[in-house]
Amino acid sequence: GVVTRFAPSPTGYLHIGGARTALFNWLYARHTGGKMLLRIEDTDRARSTKAAVAAILDGLSWLGIGWDGEPVSQAARAERHAEIAHQLLEAGNAYRCYASQEELAAMREQARAVGRPPRYDGRWRDRDPAEAPEGIDPVIRIKAPREGETVVRDQVQGDVRFPNVDLDDFVILRSDGSPTYMLAVVVDDHDMGVTHIIRGDDHLTNAARQQIIYGHLGWEAPVMAHIPLIHGPDGAKLSKRHGALGAEAYRAMGYLPEALRNYLARLGWSHGDDEIMSTDQMIEWFEVTDINKGAARFDIAKLEALNAHYIRQADDAYLVERIEALLPEIEGGAAIAGRLDDDRRGQLLAAMPGLKERARTLVQLVDSAGYLFAVRPLALDEKAAGILTEDARAMLTGAHAALSAVGTWDADHLDAAVRAFAESQELKLGKVAQPLRAALTGRATSPGVFDVLAVLGREESLGRIADQMA
Ligand code: GLU
Repeated sequence: GVVTRFAPSPTGYLHIGGARTALFNWLYARHTGGKMLLRIEDTDRARSTKAAVAAILDGLSWLGIGWDGEPVSQAARAERHAEIAHQLLEAGNAYRCYASQEELAAMREQARAVGRPPRYDGRWRDRDPAEAPEGIDPVIRIKAPREGETVVRDQVQGDVRFPNVDLDDFVILRSDGSPTYMLAVVVDDHDMGVTHIIRGDDHLTNAARQQIIYGHLGWEAPVMAHIPLIHGPDGAKLSKRHGALGAEAYRAMGYLPEALRNYLARLGWSHGDDEIMSTDQMIEWFEVTDINKGAARFDIAKLEALNAHYIRQADDAYLVERIEALLPEIEGGAAIAGRLDDDRRGQLLAAMPGLKERARTLVQLVDSAGYLFAVRPLALDEKAAGILTEDARAMLTGAHAALSAVGTWDADHLDAAVRAFAESQELKLGKVAQPLRAALTGRATSPGVFDVLAVLGREESLGRIADQMA
């Protein structure tokens, strides 16, 4: 069966590009009934802290991207990598190189002078090891082919040809005995039984080098699919300003995981004109060969629109749950969390149908639900204070009396009562509703005022109105 893998280097967060790579690997594994493995490329010991690894696992879990089996630690496999390096050495497919730092610097300098990428010239390739200088720990280099070309048969990019003159005898084992990334990836993918490598196209040149290692070892190389990187809306490399953030940053901005997942799936892959897809549909439709060859552009407005859609569609209780999980991460959230008892939770749930119609993020949802958590007497924002003129405050006294007489406290009865009161005063409905809204929420905008009255309940509503009466 198919085995894919996601192989992040722990940098402290799950980058949005990495999240998409993980998603594509996951979708393809699920589509084919195969497995997706997780390998943590933690060879940079300084950066690969426990917290950095946890951030990646958290990000994946939040997005609903599961992996099969235990995550593999690349660093823990260093001995196995060294073993393979020595196997290549014994078979004559690799050699010890004693070139000094000065020699290597001179080669780089030479290449720079003629405007070529730095390239090791192979000076120890055929040299007698007996000539090895004293006191230098050698590196091990692969014997790369010197003529012809290496062709990467890529499912996205097509056949990509690399003239072998450009692929030098690269290092596979450092002088301290540690493996290079190039070797470790090949050995790990082979040992983990990986059949398909789906990753960013910044690894395309690596793929050519890795193919040389596969060839020497007589191992079959996995199928390759290098996906174009995500670009910003201006077509340039995705910058922080344009969305190059971690998945956790999107969570904190109030995006639903299903919205981000849907958005990322469409970022560089498409199925006809379908924009909104359920996870089951994505799994059913996902094909590596449908990945676009051109770079995808990140469009935050599109993501927001999708998020608004998923919020509108979501179950109210689920939204309350998501909001509760989000509160510790947002400004003012802790105060709200402190007041979220069962009564308030019930109010939030009752208010949700009105709230979710206009929110594009969970943060906006929390913001517009703020009136539920306000404490009497309400602090008025500037616009609300402007609405509550002396006349308006005098009107509220009458409205308070009219509302006090309402028998059944629900939106329909409240609506009827307020309309009747406005008519009796020969006022337009807005002249009554706006001051009511200001008194009830402390703001000039809110969900429908009858919903607000209904959700707050008789006692709290009448109390808030009384607080503002002349
Ligand atoms: N660890 C590499 C990265 O984070 C990915 C290696 C690979 O997918 O082969 O870019």
